[in-house]
Amino acid sequence: MNDTRYDILFEPVQIGPVTAPNRFYAVPHATGHGWNQPHGAIALRAMKAEGGWGTVAVQITEIAADTDMANHPMERIWDDSDVPRHEAQVAMIKHHGSLAAIELGHGGMRCRNITTGVPVIGPSALPVLRPEVPLQARAMTLSDIAAFRASHKAAATRAKRAGYDILYVYAAHDISLLSNFLSIRTNQRADEYGGSFENRLRLLREVLQDTLEVADGRCAVALRFSVAEPEAKYGLRHDGEGRDVVTALADIPDLWDVNISGWSQDSASARFTEEGYQLPYTDFVKSVTDKPVVGVGRFTSPDTMVALVKQKRLDLIGAARPSIADPFLPNKIKNGNIDQIRECIGCNVCVSMDSYGLAIRCTQNPTISEEWRSQWHPEAPAISTGSQSHLIIGAGPAGLECALQLMRAGHKVTIADQRSQVGGRVTLESTLPGLQSWSRVKDYRLHQLSAASEVNLYLESAMTVDLVEEFDADTVVVATGASWRKDGVGSTNFDPIDFGSTAVITPDDVMTGQFNNAPTATPTATIVATNIVVYDDDHFYMGSAIAEALAMKAHNVTYITPLPTIATWTDNTLDQPAIVKRLQKLGVTLLPNTHLGADGSFTNALTGQAIEFSDDTVIALVGARTSNDTLYRELQTRGTMKQLHHAGDCLVPGIIQASVYSGHATARMILSSDSPAKRREQVSLGF
Ligand code: ADP
Ligand code: SF4
Repeated sequence: MNDTRYDILFEPVQIGPVTAPNRFYAVPHATGHGWNQPHGAIALRAMKAEGGWGTVAVQITEIAADTDMANHPMERIWDDSDVPRHEAQVAMIKHHGSLAAIELGHGGMRCRNITTGVPVIGPSALPVLRPEVPLQARAMTLSDIAAFRASHKAAATRAKRAGYDILYVYAAHDISLLSNFLSIRTNQRADEYGGSFENRLRLLREVLQDTLEVADGRCAVALRFSVAEPEAKYGLRHDGEGRDVVTALADIPDLWDVNISGWSQDSASARFTEEGYQLPYTDFVKSVTDKPVVGVGRFTSPDTMVALVKQKRLDLIGAARPSIADPFLPNKIKNGNIDQIRECIGCNVCVSMDSYGLAIRCTQNPTISEEWRSQWHPEAPAISTGSQSHLIIGAGPAGLECALQLMRAGHKVTIADQRSQVGGRVTLESTLPGLQSWSRVKDYRLHQLSAASEVNLYLESAMTVDLVEEFDADTVVVATGASWRKDGVGSTNFDPIDFGSTAVITPDDVMTGQFNNAPTATPTATIVATNIVVYDDDHFYMGSAIAEALAMKAHNVTYITPLPTIATWTDNTLDQPAIVKRLQKLGVTLLPNTHLGADGSFTNALTGQAIEFSDDTVIALVGARTSNDTLYRELQTRGTMKQLHHAGDCLVPGIIQASVYSGHATARMILSSDSPAKRREQVSLGF
């Protein structure tokens, strides 16, 4: 009997004059493939359409030269010369039967306009909404407002000509001129566009009407609106002006695409939020409007999706990250392959790439951004060159991903790991507070591998050169990971330190239970033997996660880092403010700008003051890692392997995403299905 549980997700949804073929809606999100990497952008979105997303939306598309968001590679539709690129994109999305949507936007006070040199504009003369950038916005005159409306209309006209089905009006994330006009924080005007709620709403209402006029019953008009700013001191609230906006404009747009603001709230990571975290703010919208509503919240569970529709909380299931992690999520549900969904782990590595202005990467989906560059498909197995047997040593993310791709190509795979559990670092790291969902990296792969008869998995099997040689595999892949260094070498210090009699531990000791987590004395305000200094010279999540784990065990924890901010790189994954709050709540003392000296002492770089700790203080070093590549090097020296590779952290220590990618790339190399010569986006000089 067919499984009808999820049929409701495959019902068509009328959106104004167009019909979405199902309820799966890939919302606009930054891809890093902006206007200047069109092949990559088009292929990435086409893959989602192929995977069954009934609507595929294009990220923020700058409507004119005065909304220059560079260095973030947004889309552009400044003038007619941009249209052919969009036509090609629309054609690829529609080829798979999906609707194509475009998020037309003006960044307002979030622009820099550095490449165009045009003054940044906003409702009021204030610094731009990037405190670290020395720029101010010019207050728009009434004729500037008229010009903005005209340029939005012109962009909408071009988008319609390019063939888009849904034209967005964008008032979300604090990255929008229209949001700037709505908010009392940024709109300090005294004319008809400022002051009262109706006045601040005026421009959004006008632009919506302008866009509906352009759409003229051929395209739908969507309004992307952040109904709440949960972290803002004052601003829109879902039970205040946010709700008032939805009430005032209820049936004007053909579709409400709702979320929360700023971006760090909208794209909050799994470390601090659960699936569906936006619903408490957004689910009132359906009770206010008769128009369809799409919302997001890292939805990966089909049962949750069905419940949301049945409970009339959403009409369309919006997804950015779940559609990156698994572009084929809808088709897997449709075909009853729910167990094959590659669930987003909420790590925000994808988001971090946008901060860098680079094509996105994903921990779960190594093929993202490789659709055109490398012609990698997330589901189609690599073409096999015959049936061989492969031995993979190490069942971490690199080993498992490599094994999965070889298995899919029909090869015989044996995986050996010295531990009693599969998953390597993700199994260990998912025991840290907030990182439980990271075990999905292992779960997804292990599930596929366990179901395959040509795969053998041996745990508690420490491999040696002799054992490997005895195995006589066609290919040996060494994916034995890396270990945290205990000698003080880290991102800012390349010289090993002698810690003398001071007890030094690493994240490995904490995660494997080598370090006894229970303190022996009651922590007090003064330094006692249970004091732990976590020295973070790694700057991603691990230092703060270790500090959190130890503080939760009632240790008296001091977090020290040589950089000026806490867990600096987590700013790119939008976690940093939440990490600081969490550590403060746990009573962790935070000492940025503090260096570890060659003699193992700590000094504040700004004041020159030495930081003293009692002799029995334990130092948890979170610095660099060393590849566990002894076995690989010994095998290389022996020289008896038919084919020998190393992958993941064994090749070079990196983030989990890099391990998965490395495992994937190694498999493709073994299968000879990957050309080392990647395609490149080339600029045409046009003369
Ligand atoms: P990566 O991120 O590169 O996949 P991990 O550290 O997550 O690296 O995984 C490496 C795995 O390799 C661990 O599970 C570890 O137990 C295993 N391993 C390391 N050395 C050996 C060995 N000699 N024999 C078998 N397994 C090993
Ligand atoms: Fe999800 Fe992480 Fe992939 Fe982003 S990088 S889509 S958060 S798994």
